[in-house]
Amino acid sequence: MNREILINSAYIVASILFILGLKMLGRQTTARKGNLLSGVGMLIAIVVTLLDRHVINFTWITVGLVAGTLIGLACARLVKMTAMPEMVALLNGFGGLASLIVGAAEFFRIRGGTVTPEHPAFTATVIYLTVLIGGITFTGSVYAFCKLAEWLSGRAVTFAGQNFVNGLMLLATVAAGAAYVLSGDPQVALLAFGGFTLLSLVLGWTLVMPIGGGDMPVVIAMLNSLSGLAACAAGFIISNNVLIVAGCLVGTSGVILSAIMCKAMNRPLANVLFSGFGAAPAAAGAGAGTVQGELKPISAEDCFGVLEAARQVVFVPGYGMAVSQAQHVVRELAEVLERNGAEVRFAIHPVAGRMPGHMNVLLAEADVPYEQLVEMDAINPVMTTMDVAIVIGANDVVNPAAARDPASPIYGMPIINAYEARTVICLKRGKGTGFSGLENQLFLLPNTRMLYGDAKASLQGVVAGFKSLAEG
Ligand code: NAP
Repeated sequence: MNREILINSAYIVASILFILGLKMLGRQTTARKGNLLSGVGMLIAIVVTLLDRHVINFTWITVGLVAGTLIGLACARLVKMTAMPEMVALLNGFGGLASLIVGAAEFFRIRGGTVTPEHPAFTATVIYLTVLIGGITFTGSVYAFCKLAEWLSGRAVTFAGQNFVNGLMLLATVAAGAAYVLSGDPQVALLAFGGFTLLSLVLGWTLVMPIGGGDMPVVIAMLNSLSGLAACAAGFIISNNVLIVAGCLVGTSGVILSAIMCKAMNRPLANVLFSGFGAAPAAAGAGAGTVQGELKPISAEDCFGVLEAARQVVFVPGYGMAVSQAQHVVRELAEVLERNGAEVRFAIHPVAGRMPGHMNVLLAEADVPYEQLVEMDAINPVMTTMDVAIVIGANDVVNPAAARDPASPIYGMPIINAYEARTVICLKRGKGTGFSGLENQLFLLPNTRMLYGDAKASLQGVVAGFKSLAEG
């Protein structure tokens, strides 16, 4: 069989495996298999690409493979689950940079980079698009990483006319791109290439500037999408079909992910990207529905007393559960509650934690049966029948201001109505606010008690109460 046909047939198999794998990732029961399937697809794509006759030297490929594998292994072992968004931001950024380098390499491979029969206007246009999208993705992702890792302030940095300035820069890249594709003069082509490369790198930074740390997960999903589009454009440059397909898949899944997050926060994507949300410290929420009250602490022993009598219990996990890695002891408490005759559920908010599915992943890791996981829309109608809602390091996703206070910046975001349970027990370390920086009226309600301390340690105290009951 002709080598070209063999390679493209293998690429089709790899693409089918990517698509099936992505589909399976959508369900908890099939997610692991889906991941494996996509991995096999990637292995096929890599091995087959190495058979391509355009590869003339394997030395650098081997160096890259070994270095990449070692760095990847170290990251997989060392990076904590809570640092996963930063990790994804960096991976997107390097994806964008790789595409930019492919575009630049092709530009310099064709002497002068001007349009010739060997280097038609189509190739020049995709080189422009690859460099533009790759550059924006690279610096945008590095900035998002710095915000998430708190190397830079997470606050939105805004100034008058910012969107206008960004728009002008974007127009300037289009003008430089047109000059490159149309001029036919090597000197102009080189100048234009340098211009749009530099502008794309600046734009990545300035586009992420006015977006607050709280919205970084959405930005990362968007940058993920851009890294896919850059890879897709790079696929056209080097005529690699599997890169085009994989780039499209990443591009569309990133957009879908952003849309899901925006819907869960009830904010349009344009509002996330251009409104400067999070520029000023958030107001304390003194609008309509403001509750006057005080924080009422509860001890682990008293908490055990409340739970011992409960028959309907719902856990509402949030980012704090991830920070304290409390998922295993949560599962332990759920089991002792069930043995004590209670029905236990886990209420999952779509943007609890710092990435979509964050809570599902942690609870699955702790072997919580997924039938006990209930989505927001299913738990809210039965919340009034719950004896106890245990809020584990969740804050914004249970903030009643989102439902009641039109003056609140998060007004309109759907929340888990934990405040409707008969008793609410909130686990947190102190008076820290959630990711939005807003105060939470839930903590002041008459039916709320605060169990202060690291969530894992607090829950261990409650489980100890049940254990001594069983022993005694
Ligand atoms: P959150 O609002 O960020 O609140 C986390 C709470 O956990 C804080 O109040 C903190 O209070 C507490 N905490 C931290 N470490 C703890 C520990 N070791 N033990 C006990 N408590 C601890 O979390 P969330 O309710 O899950 O909300 C997620 C936020 O991220 C939302 O604003 C959402 O819009 C945003 N977001 C998420 C996504 C996503 O995909 N998941 C995407 C975009 C935006 P203390 O400091 O007092 O302990």
